[in-house]
Amino acid sequence: MARERLYLFDTTLRDGAQTNGVDFTLNDKLAIARMLADLGIDYVEGGYPGANLTDTELFADERKLATTFTAFGMTRRPGRSTSNDPGLAALLDAKADAICFVAKSWDYHVRVALETSPEENLASIRDSVRSAKAKGREVLLDCEHFFDGYKADPQFALACAKAAYDEGARWVVLCDTNGGALPHEVERIVGEVVKVIPGDHVGIHAHNDTEQAVANSLAAVRAGARQIQGTLNGLGERCGNANLVSIIPTLKLKAEFADRFEIGVSDVQLAKLAHASHTLDEMLNRAPDRHAPYVGESAFATKAGIHASAIMKEPATYEHVPPERIGNRRKLLVSDQAGKSNVLAELDRIGLKVDKDDPRIARLLEVVKEREAIGYAYEAADASFELLARRVLGKVPNYFDVEKFDVNVEQRENAVGKRVTVSLAVVKVKVGGETLISAAEGNGPVNALDLALRKDLGKYQSYISALELTDYRVRILNGGTEAVTRVLIESTDELGERWTTVGVSPNIIDASFQALMDSIVYKLVRSGAPA
Ligand SMILES: [Zn+2]
Repeated sequence: MARERLYLFDTTLRDGAQTNGVDFTLNDKLAIARMLADLGIDYVEGGYPGANLTDTELFADERKLATTFTAFGMTRRPGRSTSNDPGLAALLDAKADAICFVAKSWDYHVRVALETSPEENLASIRDSVRSAKAKGREVLLDCEHFFDGYKADPQFALACAKAAYDEGARWVVLCDTNGGALPHEVERIVGEVVKVIPGDHVGIHAHNDTEQAVANSLAAVRAGARQIQGTLNGLGERCGNANLVSIIPTLKLKAEFADRFEIGVSDVQLAKLAHASHTLDEMLNRAPDRHAPYVGESAFATKAGIHASAIMKEPATYEHVPPERIGNRRKLLVSDQAGKSNVLAELDRIGLKVDKDDPRIARLLEVVKEREAIGYAYEAADASFELLARRVLGKVPNYFDVEKFDVNVEQRENAVGKRVTVSLAVVKVKVGGETLISAAEGNGPVNALDLALRKDLGKYQSYISALELTDYRVRILNGGTEAVTRVLIESTDELGERWTTVGVSPNIIDASFQALMDSIVYKLVRSGAPA
């Protein structure tokens, strides 16, 4: 049986750009648009030309993207003609394949926010769609507050949608702008809409204010909608938009959807999804959510020993989909509860071949347990685990020794009489027969120590030149006789590899130093640096 086509519309660059703290440059936008096109997303909404300089520039040139590149904007203002509305003119001039208009569909908003009549609102929709069609653009209409509008006055909400469809809009998109609708409501209301407008012209735009944006999107598809709007990683104002990173694998891998629908994302593109999700986080300079469905580092992580041995035999026993389909991987956690099978599986994954009866396995398990008892957390720090394992197995060269370090924090008045805190670190390292001394200033003691440590490692410098710290987390653990500090450091390199290391000590500088050292040594091991 032929499968029906479902279309994906990404609005990371428009609605997603409303997220607190997110500020895309023109280059960011182009890079993300290309990444979305590479993933096989049908529509990429780039922004709102005329609303800000970046978006105006974005649509000033032909971008030649392998997707339907879409500009967003308002329908003509009430009381004006289409030829006398500068906002509409800017939108119609945008170098875009499609135009997505937003219009009111809630009578209450029309009266209170727009201060116009229902008839004028409908006329504005018709005129705007017609003028964009005349410009040769594909047209979409976002019906703002559609679900609230439908609950208040179904006839008016439907009339707004129908006006756009009758005028030739390719898609009429039902927006849950407040994000308060629930899946059963969405399914019922979309079911009513598709009696009036064919489902293959109906889209859903859900917000996540009740954490059901993904469920609402799927409910709309079940009821007949054939376009889903959303963002990468659920970016968007307040609680975000529907997360395409969760929706795409569900459509591709869950039989209810996969058997009935086809999307523009191929199997090969699906396997790039985890990478795309992490790349966006990197551009936003934030650590990926390790618990993100499908793509998070913990999405396919298993803790207990008994599960680990079953997973090794038959992964389907504990996994709802195979992690590699989305470009993720299986991870067996080494922890307090870890059995021998966990350790063996983890050694296998990191490529350390050890016989299962090797006595060093028991020794490694013992060391892991001892260290976890004093605060180390290896399930969050797989690079430190790998180093520990390699050390127990005698496979880590002694690249360099830190003979001593000195970290100094000073608060004083600067030249203009302002109080400043300055940190200075000096590190003395022995590499081969050579003694190297480096000093660096930093915005804090750990930053200064990191900079000094990585400033000059002699013959190893080229291996670590692209190493970067991307996340630094501190936790105070109150166990035993005194509080200890656990530091987790996440690093990345020129290949986009990420790894996390851990340090534990009553002294935060000392804990940070351990984690920094592990990160550098791990990078040297991974790069195959000679001893
Ligand atoms: Zn929205």
